[in-house]
Amino acid sequence: MGVLAGVIVNFHGVRGSTPCQSPDVARHGGNTSCVSVHTPNEAPLLFDLGTGLRNFAETLAPDEVFDGTCLLSHLHWDHVQGLPFFRPLLRPGARMTIHAPAQDDGRHPGDVLQATIRPPLFPVGLDEIDGEVVVHQAKPQFTVGSSTVHSADVPHNGSTTGYRVDSGTHSVAYVSDHQQPDDFADMAESVVGLCRGVDLLIHDAQYTRAEFEQKRTWGHCTVEYAVAVAAAANVRRLALFHHDPFHDDEMIERMTAAGRRCGEALGVDVFAAVEGLSVDLGAA
Ligand SMILES: [Zn+2]
Ligand SMILES: [Zn+2]
Repeated sequence: MGVLAGVIVNFHGVRGSTPCQSPDVARHGGNTSCVSVHTPNEAPLLFDLGTGLRNFAETLAPDEVFDGTCLLSHLHWDHVQGLPFFRPLLRPGARMTIHAPAQDDGRHPGDVLQATIRPPLFPVGLDEIDGEVVVHQAKPQFTVGSSTVHSADVPHNGSTTGYRVDSGTHSVAYVSDHQQPDDFADMAESVVGLCRGVDLLIHDAQYTRAEFEQKRTWGHCTVEYAVAVAAAANVRRLALFHHDPFHDDEMIERMTAAGRRCGEALGVDVFAAVEGLSVDLGAA
């Protein structure tokens, strides 16, 4: 791998809800949410730990003692399922630092992970592996290396956080699961404020309008709402993310085309997140 010149965003898993696999979904990929942000000379920063985390692991040197950070949006399966299968943590000295939202019921997110990644749900307890997993409740603002991270509440089902990473003059925001309100015109100020003016917004775009009518409380939004959020936050580039596992490649391409038409009217460049895609935000 060559020397990184700028801030690079890599998509390792772009699917929502559950992993899927068939020739019909191969172009966009079937692994669930996992994205990395690479800043020159620093450890990559992860958004979420879905099954795409295995793809990220493939990018690491075999002898690397992993010491990285994940900004975890929430604890739903599709965002954490890759963690117990992340082989770089099966090594003494390896460490994963996770920032995750405080839970509505008062439990620490680290306690929830420890309580669920253990027998009989998984063969080994998270506290028994050789590496170390450290979980912090995400603060509104903190630093990771030279990057500044902001977190903010996102409407979804259960405690959910969006993140913004500012690295040098570049910025990316991650809002993977976002409940569209009953009134399309409503927008959570916490979300719009978080995303304001970022170079790239990665945003939930799971449903068509017709699907949303059937699933109004399922925690997600339409392509059109994702574009509207980007426009309201004055964002130039929008990656449609968290693709529905029942949508084949052609369906996602039709939805992306609809999003592009919508974005052209509002000054937003819209594209579909694809497993394996790299986006260069420019020199740091
Ligand atoms: Zn999800
Ligand atoms: Zn979710």
